Amino acid sequence: MATQKTLRLILGDQLNYRHSWFNQSRKNIVYTMMEVRQETDYVKHHIQKVAGFFAAMRSFSGALSEKGHRVIYFHLDDPENEQSIEENLQQLIRKEKFTRFEYLLPDEYRLDRQLEKIASRLPVPAAAFDTEHFLTERDEVRKLFDGKKRYLMESFYRHMRKKHDILIEDGKPAGGKWNYDQSNRNRYDGAVPLPAAKVFKNDVSDIAEMIDANGVKTFGDIEPKRFIWPVNRRQALSQLGEFNRKRLPHFGTYQDSMTEDSWSIFHSRLSFALNTKMLHPMEVIRPAIGQSQKKTGQAIGIEQIEGFVRQILGWREYMRGIYWAHMPGYETLNHFDHRAALPDYYWTADTRMNCMRAAIAQSLKHAYAHHIQRLMVTGNFALLAGVHPDEVDAWYLGIYIDAIQWVEIVNTRGMSQFADGGIVATKPYISSANYIRKMSDHCDGCWYAAGKNTGDRSCPFNSFYWDFLNRNRRKLANNFRMAMMYRTWDRMKEDKRRQLLKQAKQYRAKLNSL
Ligand code: FAD
Ligand code: SF4
Repeated sequence: MATQKTLRLILGDQLNYRHSWFNQSRKNIVYTMMEVRQETDYVKHHIQKVAGFFAAMRSFSGALSEKGHRVIYFHLDDPENEQSIEENLQQLIRKEKFTRFEYLLPDEYRLDRQLEKIASRLPVPAAAFDTEHFLTERDEVRKLFDGKKRYLMESFYRHMRKKHDILIEDGKPAGGKWNYDQSNRNRYDGAVPLPAAKVFKNDVSDIAEMIDANGVKTFGDIEPKRFIWPVNRRQALSQLGEFNRKRLPHFGTYQDSMTEDSWSIFHSRLSFALNTKMLHPMEVIRPAIGQSQKKTGQAIGIEQIEGFVRQILGWREYMRGIYWAHMPGYETLNHFDHRAALPDYYWTADTRMNCMRAAIAQSLKHAYAHHIQRLMVTGNFALLAGVHPDEVDAWYLGIYIDAIQWVEIVNTRGMSQFADGGIVATKPYISSANYIRKMSDHCDGCWYAAGKNTGDRSCPFNSFYWDFLNRNRRKLANNFRMAMMYRTWDRMKEDKRRQLLKQAKQYRAKLNSL
């Protein structure tokens, strides 16, 4: 029998250095990785996102070659690069006479279906393998909530804690509580110094030039000789180590806080390393737990550790499960029938709203904003202003270094825009200026007045908040978690309500220039 010659495809977010594939025989196995226009062009990306993915892919390919594997790598500007995954595969199979094709299961629905189709059209047999990254099966969340209307994250999270024996002592949650969310809501008060953001100085100038020279449309800033994101496993591990030493001790306390003095506060900024799979979620969770059990030095409190573990063991896996339970279709949901265009300042940060300016400016500069900025500033504003979820989605998918549809869309369309009508969130994440003032220092120097609801310089979040509640009453009034807000609205004097709606109308008319 003739020997098999196998071609294996690795996608840009499948950089799992510890995958079992790489411990197997190297004989007659060739890997391929490709920088293709189909991936640079399906949405307009931040330049750092494209450069980051390509740099990390190139490092990964280099590491495989060093281990003795053969890799055929298509650079974006290689003349033989057909710019489509299928055409490149067909070309390789033809030229190199491969007899078998193997790939790792993609996390995005779009690519999953595409690869299924490609596999069925190739002239050789094909097989798909697990990426060995996630802690759940694709359909685990769906099965867990089978027949239920709501997919409660807290129930899923407890299931995961028990299943993986994480922060469980004698069958009970460590410290006595499942969730320390109540201790995770402090405003940053300067009580502990802010650590400077750990950044790398990678030189990606050749990649940035290539992207530009090939006419790929991107946006945002980049310092190509000082690219700050980790692009290989060594750097990813170094960022993880720094997080555990300097940020984790205060992560939980200031998790929901925002300050003009820091663009990442105590957050880990590990999402890029995790989503490209350079790090495995357990590699991040285990050392964090280790910090709470330290015998020497100062152990870190459970409320810090649990707050962090919840994000990865809970939210991250839960979002993926919701994605696979509701795709296709989720990407079209628009519960409130919102239609407004995304205001121009989402692309420029040119707005007098200080909180929005800060969140957008740092997103353009670093391709990063932390969770509360994404949820309670830019997301909250888009929801209150009634922006079409398609436009909101495209922005979040393009701008963040960590944005891949399986995690982006459930966070954006579901959690932040409530466009799924409540599959992810039990109520819309909306707030007036009150929340932003409580959790940040943005309002102090703002052109608008956080305490003013109507009139000159009144904060747009305030009138938009009440206007949102009023116009969506039919869809929200029966939600018991919204009852208090509607009671407050109903108790307001008629004239005050009229003024608020009038103010919102005025602001809506000049949405692009707020
Ligand atoms: P940390 O605060 O340090 O948290 C640690 C890790 O927990 C993160 O790296 C991430 O892997 C995980 N995590 C935390 N919250 C979530 C969450 N809600 N869903 C999934 N994982 C979570 N995250 C993405 O990875 N990609 C996205 O495209 C993305 N888009 C978002 C869009 C919106 C509108 C919102 C509200 C959130 C989005 N998130 C997304 C979730 C979250 O904001 C980011 O994971 C986080 O800000 C990344 O920064 P970090 O690594 O410093 O996180
Ligand atoms: Fe944002 Fe309003 Fe506060 Fe200004 S006053 S920072 S617009 S919440």
